[in-house]
Amino acid sequence: MRRKLVVGNWKMNGNRAANASLLSGIVAGFDAAQVDSAVCVPAPYLAQCEAALAGTPVSWGAQDVSAHAGGAFTGEVSAQMLAEFGCRYVIVGHSERRASHAESSELVAQKAVAVMGAGMTPIVCVGETLDEREAGQTFVVVRNQLGHVLERVGADGMAKIVVAYEPVWAIGTGRTATPEMAQEVHARLRAQMAEQNAVVAGKVQILYGGSMKPDNAKELMAQPDIDGGLIGGAALKAADFLAIIHAA
Ligand code: PGA
Repeated sequence: MRRKLVVGNWKMNGNRAANASLLSGIVAGFDAAQVDSAVCVPAPYLAQCEAALAGTPVSWGAQDVSAHAGGAFTGEVSAQMLAEFGCRYVIVGHSERRASHAESSELVAQKAVAVMGAGMTPIVCVGETLDEREAGQTFVVVRNQLGHVLERVGADGMAKIVVAYEPVWAIGTGRTATPEMAQEVHARLRAQMAEQNAVVAGKVQILYGGSMKPDNAKELMAQPDIDGGLIGGAALKAADFLAIIHAA
């Protein structure tokens, strides 16, 4: 009943020429009518995405946003600005931003609210570090991260978010969570949302991210609570990204 969603997170990669061929390659090979797909690109390339993807089944979005609506925030980009470029999704709380930009779960929650306020869907990332997993803290960490967002968006707003479970130790490392490990966390996250509203919780897409590749995507996405993927490295080659979409 939940549609699968496969999202590419380009991170700080790309240039106009490479983007053009990647985007046209994705559009040309995209024939999975049952799957939703999007690319989240560096902000300067949003106009290029809009030009290349408008009218196609592939959506686009951003990787971060300001929590503020506007004003004296040098270097920041507001949700309203992203919406003007046709973004459907905005990633918030990616672990790379939590780590290198000291983003707190409270700030991530404010960003999610800003994204929703501009009519877009936040992809809320949660995930534990290796130390936290080894200390048996995984469920505590992700519960706390998601909890901040749920508190701010409420049971109704929950219907308008996507959650991405991305164990930090699996991102860009080639080390993937096993399908069972990922499913266990996804089920916990859904149960946490069900505490607010079980019907809505049953509809929220929960993506897995962290070294998802063509050869492990099918098994991961076959798990009952894994509704798609947030793909980093493998989203930079049209053939790999399409193979993951087709595995969904
Ligand atoms: P990866 O990145 O697929 O390269 O591990 C995923 C992500 O950081 O979103």
